[in-house]
Amino acid sequence: MKKALIIGGGIAGPVTAMALQRAGVEPIVCEAYQEAAAEQIGAFLTVAVNGLSALALLDAQHVVTDIGYPTATLSFSTSAGKHITDMPIGGTLPDGTVTHSIKRRDMYRALNAEATRRGVRFEYDKRLVDATATADGVRASFADGTTIEADVLIGADGIRSRTREIIDPAAPKAHFLGIYGLGGFVTDRGLHRELGLRPGIYNMVFGKKAFFGCFVAPDGEIWWFANMPSAQELSGTAHTTSAQWREQLVALLSADRGPAARIVAATSDDTFVPAFNQYDMPTVRQWHNDNMVIVGDAAHAVASSSGQGVSMAVEDAVTLAICLRDIPDTAAALAAYEDRRRARVERVVAYGAQTSGDKASNGLGRLIVRLLTPYFLKKAAKSGVAPLNWMFDYRVGWETQPVARQFSD
Ligand SMILES: Cc1cc2nc3c(=O)[nH]c(=O)nc-3n(C[C@H](O)[C@H](O)[C@H](O)COP(=O)(O)OP(=O)(O)OC[C@H]3O[C@@H](n4cnc5c(N)ncnc54)[C@H](O)[C@@H]3O)c2cc1C
Repeated sequence: MKKALIIGGGIAGPVTAMALQRAGVEPIVCEAYQEAAAEQIGAFLTVAVNGLSALALLDAQHVVTDIGYPTATLSFSTSAGKHITDMPIGGTLPDGTVTHSIKRRDMYRALNAEATRRGVRFEYDKRLVDATATADGVRASFADGTTIEADVLIGADGIRSRTREIIDPAAPKAHFLGIYGLGGFVTDRGLHRELGLRPGIYNMVFGKKAFFGCFVAPDGEIWWFANMPSAQELSGTAHTTSAQWREQLVALLSADRGPAARIVAATSDDTFVPAFNQYDMPTVRQWHNDNMVIVGDAAHAVASSSGQGVSMAVEDAVTLAICLRDIPDTAAALAAYEDRRRARVERVVAYGAQTSGDKASNGLGRLIVRLLTPYFLKKAAKSGVAPLNWMFDYRVGWETQPVARQFSD
C-alpha cells in the first residue's frame, strides 16, 4: 500500500486523508500546531454546495451540516442602511441541501475528529521544514528534528505553504492585500430582534470606511466579520488587545447607519477574533514535482468573498485521491491531478478577484471598488444565480475518469 505524508491538518489535510483512505493509500497528517488553525483567521465560513457534494462522496457532508446552518440568501445594504438586493448563494442539492455557514474552529475540529475516527493518524506540533526525494519516495524533516519517509508528500499547508517553496524555491509568495479581517460572535440572543435581522440570512453592508457581514444563527447568536483597509502588515509581535481593535472598528463603522457598530460593540473579548492580515497569491505555476504536490490554499488562494476556498480544497482532495488510485506511477498521477484541476481553479480564482476587487492596487482602492459594487450587484441580482451555475453545479465523481492521453501510453 502506498503511504502519503500530508502536511497541514486544516481543511484540505483531513479531507485529503479521508479521500486517500478510500483510494487505498495510507495517509498520515502532520500539523504544525497543537490544534489545526491555531492561527485564528476569521470567525466563520460558508461552504458552497459544490464543496458539500464533494464531501458527500466521502460520506463526510454531515461534518458541516450537523453543526453548521443553512444560509441560502445574501442580503446587501448601503452605508445609509438602504437595502440593495437579496441574492441566492449557490443552488440546492437534490436532497435539498443549500450553502451552510459554520464556525471556522468548529469545522477544523470536526474534520479532524471525523478523520481520526476513521483511523487516520495525526501528529500535532509537527512543522515541516524541508523535504528531499529518496530512491523510492520522499523524506520530510520537521522542526522537532525528526524525519518521516513516504511515497508521496502532499502539502495542504495553506497560503504560506512551505511545501510550495520546497517544490519550487522561486514560487510566488502570498502578499498582503492591504486589508485586515476581524470577526466575532454576539452571544446576546435578543440583539438580532432589536436590530431587525432575519435568521439564516447573510447580511453584507458596504460601509463608508469598512466592509461588514453578519449572519444570525437559528439560536439567535450573531456571527460577524469585517474588513478594514490598512497600509501596514501586522507582524507576529504586534500586540493590540481585542478591546483596542473593537474600539477602532466601532469608530470606523459608526460612520454608517446600519447595525454593524452595535454588533461589534456588543462582542465580548472572549468571542472577538482580533485583526489578521488578508493575503492574496499570484498564480502558482508549479503544483508538483515527481513525488510532492500541493492542494487547497497552498496551490491557489481563492478570494474569501467567493465563498469557494473550502470547496476548492475539497474538490482538490477528492481529485488527487482518484488520480493516485487510478494511475500507478506517482509522478504521472500528480501531473494528471493538476491537469484536471487547474482550469477549474483558475476560473474560480478569477471570479473571486472580480467580486472582491482584489485587483485594485491597495486597500483603499479595493474599498472604493466595493463601494461601487452595489450598482453591479443590482444588475447581477436581476439575472439570478444562473450565470454562476458553472461554479456551483460542478461535481467531482468518485468513479474512474478517463486518463489524459499523455499518461495512457
Ligand atoms: C477571512 C477569510 C474568510 C474566508 N471565508 C471563506 C468562506 O466563507 N468560504 C470558503 O469556502 N472559504 C473561505 N475562506 C478561505 C478558506 O479559509 C481557505 O480556502 C481554506 O481554509 C483552505 O484550507 P487549507 O486546508 O488549504 O488551508 P488552511 O485552512 O490554512 O490549513 C492549513 C494548515 O496547515 C498548517 N501548516 C502550515 N504550515 C505548516 C507546516 N510547515 N507544517 C505543518 N503544518 C503546517 C496550518 O497550521 C493549518 O492548520 C476564507 C479565508 C479567509 C482568510
